[in-house]
Amino acid sequence: MRPSEDNYLHKGLRKNLVNNIRAKGITNERVLEAIQAVPRHFFLDSAFTKHAYEDRAFPIAEGQTISQPYTVAYQSQLLDVKPFDKVLEIGTGSAYQACILAEMGAQVYTIERQKKLYEQNKLFSYARSFPGIRFFYGDGFEGLPTYAPFDKIIVTAAAPFIPEKLIAQLKTGGVMVIPVNEGDLQRMLRLVKNSDGSFIEERFDQFSFVPMKEGKKN
Ligand code: SAH
Repeated sequence: MRPSEDNYLHKGLRKNLVNNIRAKGITNERVLEAIQAVPRHFFLDSAFTKHAYEDRAFPIAEGQTISQPYTVAYQSQLLDVKPFDKVLEIGTGSAYQACILAEMGAQVYTIERQKKLYEQNKLFSYARSFPGIRFFYGDGFEGLPTYAPFDKIIVTAAAPFIPEKLIAQLKTGGVMVIPVNEGDLQRMLRLVKNSDGSFIEERFDQFSFVPMKEGKKN
């Protein structure tokens, strides 16, 4: 069962988490406000509430994880989300990152390849309470051509390479934040698309993500 109460104790734990993430170098106040606002314990079974505000990744269903809060904040800061930005997310997972982006005012289109996770999110009333989030069951390597182009794209699984179809679905001047590499560690990249379809690449820190896999899973 998921908890649905958010009391002063949870808010206090989140304040500590925000201070912790700030001390690790996150400076974007809108990102920190979103972390303060979104009850991360709602995304875990009530048995794990005490782990919700540790700055760690945590296992969810189907062998997947809810990303570490610092990683969510890091990617959100690189994406520099502005209100009404149209953002494509690859790897819905727990929907925590999607809720952080929506809390920051983005219009979020999020894709998950695992049907069970997609279906759980359809029943997750907190995530469903954001009118700015649309959930899709599909293969993130394909993106969402029907809804393209996007201002921004965030990939939250380890990409073996930069998917060309995703670059194609970005607006000129659009930004993609993507962890790339097949090994244990991925390099966080930020790409900015040029008008001729090429892109400028910046390299950031290394992180460890679950793999981005081809195709849908039933
Ligand atoms: N953003 C998530 C992180 C989840 S972990 C959160 O905030 O919790 C990465 C997720 O990406 C997993 O749920 C995994 O099933 C999904 N995934 C992996 N490859 C994918 C693909 N090709 N398309 C869509 N989702 C994918």
